[in-house]
Amino acid sequence: MLAFAHDGFTYPLPEGHRFPLAKYRLVREGAERLDGVEVEKAEAADWLALRRTHSDDWIDRVREGRLERREELALGLPWSPELVERSRRATGATLMAARAALEEGIAMNLGGGTHHAFAHAGRGFCVFNDVVTALRTLRVEGRLRRVLVVDLDVHQGDGTHALLAGDADAFTLSLNGFRNYPFRRVPGDLEVELPDGTRDAEYLAQLGRVLPEAIRRSRAELAFVLAGADPYEGDRLGRLALTKHGLLDRDALVRDTLAAAAVPVCVTLAGGYAEDIRDTVEINLGTVRTFSASQS
Ligand SMILES: [Zn+2]
Repeated sequence: MLAFAHDGFTYPLPEGHRFPLAKYRLVREGAERLDGVEVEKAEAADWLALRRTHSDDWIDRVREGRLERREELALGLPWSPELVERSRRATGATLMAARAALEEGIAMNLGGGTHHAFAHAGRGFCVFNDVVTALRTLRVEGRLRRVLVVDLDVHQGDGTHALLAGDADAFTLSLNGFRNYPFRRVPGDLEVELPDGTRDAEYLAQLGRVLPEAIRRSRAELAFVLAGADPYEGDRLGRLALTKHGLLDRDALVRDTLAAAAVPVCVTLAGGYAEDIRDTVEINLGTVRTFSASQS
């Protein structure tokens, strides 16, 4: 399985910042040690591709560092030229993984899943929306039409929902923590709202119920999976109570259900904010291992 990495393009963060920037290098190093996984460096998404998703105004102001203070606060990350480069690479990684998935059945971005980015604004650690940029670019290239987005990050993918709201050929499925960010929701096509403290059995039962329905209704030629690590019981922002084993079961359920329907899959990692960063890395590497195992 090809996996695309962008951790080499780092950016400055204040000490103690809650964004787990260090996890990406650790996940990439772990993935390089796995049999059957080939890690490649992601290219930057070009500006033309990003303009398929974002307004000229947003792109120009991000490029030139002209964000307002309130926009930087909503983003949750301080602007820097390096952040812009990193965000382009993260989007490029999803585009490259999506292309590889169409050819090989499965591929991965060792990051990405930036689902809070809207057309005119970035939010919640998301500067550009990687999945929407990738799917629109693949359509322009004539490679696909219908897509399914399976969003298993605990936070609702409000930006992705808004961007795909009028798109009859894109179907969004998400399992969200009900009492969690974002507090102003944008409806998706099929959503499950989970109460605080939801555990493995309930989560897996809900996913097993809605995923086949989403596959059927989407008639997708490609699925994007946001395999967030933040439903984990030890996550600082998640509020759910899945175990590491439960998350492995989740990934295997997604892999096997999509494989049975012969839908190629592009996996992204999305969020993960465990108290100990090693827990997030372990969960992310479990995702890499699970999806790469479908190759053999
Ligand atoms: Zn999240």
